[in-house]
Amino acid sequence: MRLCPKCEVALTSVSYEGFRILQCPECKGYLVPLDRLESIKRAPRTPQEQLKEEARTEFKGDASAPVRCPRCHGPMEKTPLDVPMLTLQSDRCASCRLVWLDGGELALLQLAYEMSQQFLNAEDMKQRLRELEASPERKAQFEANLAQLPEPADPVADALGGGVGLLLWSLRQGLRR
Ligand SMILES: [Zn+2]
Ligand SMILES: [Zn+2]
Repeated sequence: MRLCPKCEVALTSVSYEGFRILQCPECKGYLVPLDRLESIKRAPRTPQEQLKEEARTEFKGDASAPVRCPRCHGPMEKTPLDVPMLTLQSDRCASCRLVWLDGGELALLQLAYEMSQQFLNAEDMKQRLRELEASPERKAQFEANLAQLPEPADPVADALGGGVGLLLWSLRQGLRR
């Protein structure tokens, strides 16, 4: 039996996007094997509305307190999640290859990933990128403008709203390809 690193209640096995993972019944955090995180992030099964609802209900802000691995009880390492705009930290145990995600963070991870893909796939986005690629001066100007933009004050709200920030992030990614 594994205990929640925050609430110290027993984690329960749940099916999430077709994967068996452990969840805390109290804080709704998830313990995910590292090698499944990428598959879950890309799984399109859960409707976006449901993901938004979960993120709104369960996300209480990115916790900075250190947590211990539910398996080996060693300290977990704060590691940024590989998602656009969201500056969320996950907690990882390198030796057990486990990731702890606070309540709502898994939904945010999926949402941000899906939204970034939609932006990148949008036809007008491709057109704008082609135009920028075709002109080194315009591209340089565009990148200079991007560099001047402040970071969003509330990245979570920004991502959930599908806001301008995510659009800009997608453009940046597109330019770097
Ligand atoms: Zn908990
Ligand atoms: Zn561990």
